[in-house]
Amino acid sequence: MGEVSGNDAAFARASRIIPGGVSSPVRAFGSVGGSPVFIARAAGPYVYDVDGREYVDLVGSWGPALLGHAHPEVVAAVQAAAARGLSFGAPTLAEAELAEAVRARVPLARKVRLVSTGTEACMTAVRLARGATGRDLLVKFAGCYHGHSDALLAAAGSGLATGGLPGSAGVTAAATAQTIVLPYNHADAIRALFAERGDEIAAVITEPAAANMGIVPPGPGFNAVLREVTAAHGALLIYDEVLTGFRVSASGWWGLEGGVEPDLFTFGKVVGGGMPLAALGGRADLMDLLAPLGPVYQAGTLSGNPLATAAGIATLRLADASVYARVDAAADRLAGEVTAAFTSAGVPHVLQRAGSLFSVFLGVDSPVRDYASAQRQDTGAFRAFFHAMLDAGVALPPSAYEAWFVSAAHDDAVLDRIVTALPSAATAAGAARST
Ligand SMILES: *Cc1c(COP(=O)(O)O)cnc(C)c1O
Repeated sequence: MGEVSGNDAAFARASRIIPGGVSSPVRAFGSVGGSPVFIARAAGPYVYDVDGREYVDLVGSWGPALLGHAHPEVVAAVQAAAARGLSFGAPTLAEAELAEAVRARVPLARKVRLVSTGTEACMTAVRLARGATGRDLLVKFAGCYHGHSDALLAAAGSGLATGGLPGSAGVTAAATAQTIVLPYNHADAIRALFAERGDEIAAVITEPAAANMGIVPPGPGFNAVLREVTAAHGALLIYDEVLTGFRVSASGWWGLEGGVEPDLFTFGKVVGGGMPLAALGGRADLMDLLAPLGPVYQAGTLSGNPLATAAGIATLRLADASVYARVDAAADRLAGEVTAAFTSAGVPHVLQRAGSLFSVFLGVDSPVRDYASAQRQDTGAFRAFFHAMLDAGVALPPSAYEAWFVSAAHDDAVLDRIVTALPSAATAAGAARST
């Protein structure tokens, strides 16, 4: 019998007890093949697998690790909080402190409620919109992901796209009957829908820069059109900034974009600093409809957990202008190098950005504006590229539909390692092209 790596053994053991061996499907290497890397620890820009192998990490826990992994001050804040008690089921001042930090960055989040996951934040925002308007219909865009609650699991982007699933079994037709899915970036489609059914629509929920079908930024004026038609028909506009919030700028996509004023926001990922914490925020009159003040029910045993709030407060405190400048610079350099590598290897590709977030669509030669065009990418070429990078010690998200996440810890020496790995990986992608 040959050597079994610790990693393969870990995957085999986990697969015997956990479906697919993973606690969330995007972690499985379903679309790229092979065994997922089992992580033992992480520090700064690196993750280490159970065999002790070091990788430059471009997953960043799918977004939270803005400062790099296990930032000493964040870890110290969590340790200090843990020593004071893990959970009380009673309010703490730290919750108000974190909510104030959110509002300081996104002043339209006049009031903020803390929850544990982005899924809950989006589910609650939708319930709140329906409760506030007394209307049933919800509009979302194909390829945008808003968590895995039933009503939002229609044409929901990365996780499903990666697995080649149109939607989820177990979601009843009734649960999605009141969700209308439109193509992203098609202002004419949203105008037409509102002209016909505007007075039945509770809300439009959108990723204001889509990041779960690869990176698909909004076209000029698209978000403004969403604001205009929702306002004209008494519907609400929800910006889901679970991924972009506090990552693409201190005030998220909303701050980068300027001008559009949504009614509600959802946040997650960075706001929890790597702990299970998310939030929704927005107009005070709407937020005050939440229980206990109002009739829209929402609750959570571990909501506003003291360890999670400590991580979030420390992360936002440390995420100053210099952090965003470093993350932007790292993304600029890497995006340029990735483009250069695929160009020299003769691989048609389109690299798209939303601030410091970027992704590359292989085998595509015109801009990707919506989910249908994202699905034209060559996932076989990505698979070859992904494994070549992994073999060279660079861990990319294991899906062609995900953004690459850099952190403030990705300095030039770290980026050099990625850049060194790019040419042969790009060549491998070219050799694997399906066309
Ligand atoms: C990750 C994500 C969610 C879901 O957050 P979870 O914490 O995984 O439930 C919702 N919306 C967007 C835009 C996301 O990227």
